[in-house]
Amino acid sequence: MSDAPSALHYPRPTSLVERALTPLLRFLYLPGVFQRLYLVPSLPAVVRKPYATEKRWWGDDRFTVPEELRDVAGIRRDPAAEDEAARTAPLQDWLTIHPEAVRYIFKHGWRTFLTTAPRVQRANRRLKVLAAAQPAAAPAAATARAADPAALSRALKERGRELGLSAVGIAEHDPRYTLAPYRDAQLGDRVVVLALDQSWEATNTAPSVRSEKAAFVAYADLTDRGNALTEWLQAQGYRARLHDFQGENVILHYAVVTGLGQMGINGQVLTPSAGSRCRVTSITTDAPLAIDEPVDYGIHKICDECKICVRRCPSGAIPARRTMYRGVEKAKLNMVRCAPVVAQAHGCAVCMKVCPIQRYGLGPVLDEYNATGRILGKDTDELEGYTFHGQWYGAGERPRLAEEFLTPPGLVFDATRTAPQPGAHRQFR
Ligand code: SF4
Ligand code: SF4
Repeated sequence: MSDAPSALHYPRPTSLVERALTPLLRFLYLPGVFQRLYLVPSLPAVVRKPYATEKRWWGDDRFTVPEELRDVAGIRRDPAAEDEAARTAPLQDWLTIHPEAVRYIFKHGWRTFLTTAPRVQRANRRLKVLAAAQPAAAPAAATARAADPAALSRALKERGRELGLSAVGIAEHDPRYTLAPYRDAQLGDRVVVLALDQSWEATNTAPSVRSEKAAFVAYADLTDRGNALTEWLQAQGYRARLHDFQGENVILHYAVVTGLGQMGINGQVLTPSAGSRCRVTSITTDAPLAIDEPVDYGIHKICDECKICVRRCPSGAIPARRTMYRGVEKAKLNMVRCAPVVAQAHGCAVCMKVCPIQRYGLGPVLDEYNATGRILGKDTDELEGYTFHGQWYGAGERPRLAEEFLTPPGLVFDATRTAPQPGAHRQFR
């Protein structure tokens, strides 16, 4: 099957509604106004159903990875290069380095943001209340339980399962993966990673408003459930702080080191149960929890055989090979090509949608590989097809983006920047 781009050519369509809404959006996105969207009531549950979050605990899924697919637990690392990168170029928040791009994305994503932001902001308000209400000292029960970190970890994970999270992992805090403004503000030496599956049906319509809403609704649900888990830790007598979805650390690092998944070629953590169809955040705490280990799920070698996302990305932003970057081996996306598509195609997420591990789960992908040596769904419209700006592209074709689509007026994105820009703010904080 050929993968030649179709002859279609896409300038960004002009939206009259969007133009008419521009003054209102400018006002709503002012920090002091956006934060007050928590006052807007949620839509009724029946309206939210098409993109509602899944409730599934991944720990019940089982996989047998064949020897030939095994590579390395977690990710290939060069600790000296990790140290050097952290020392010479501390990590910054992407959103504060590229505030103009963030504003552009928010403006064009108004269908998603305006309907999901009230729930996200309500969850964030609760998060702030809990962050300010830390226990003064561990009570006797907590001190006794501290003698058995493994029991405390089991109890924490069981509580996460009861709350409807999909997975909970525990890591030791690593300052190299903390964003520069938060390096000296850590609370304790444990990072608890929380993951939540988002709607399978909605994700598999990507790129679409429905899929993008599913992601933001999952963030709101993740924060609500993370708040409840934070309260549980505090009730045990420990200090604990949940991070909002913009985060204080490199969450992908923690998801890998705790064995929740491995980095896919698409630049996202692929969990065995849901691929990258999930949202992830973390709690920092001084609870003496036992830590988890990275796992080899065979994902690196599956990606080497698959490369569907590399072919299907509408803008060619995904490299076919991994390279060493800041001391870890990963595929580094070309954000100059990706960001304009994310902004103009409802968050895009084609690379999530076409991933076989996302669509079918690792178990069926391994079964197919063991039986036939093939990647499940590869070259089928079911897996690889998607609708982009109203037109369907089957497995053998993809949109051809005009230069003006990748450099639309108003989108400023300077890939050489490494420092936060004056006036940049955190929209969801
Ligand atoms: S989000 Fe879209 S444009 Fe960006 S890497 Fe994924 S498929 Fe490509
Ligand atoms: S689509 Fe294939 S290559 Fe891309 S991340 Fe998923 S498994 Fe890896």
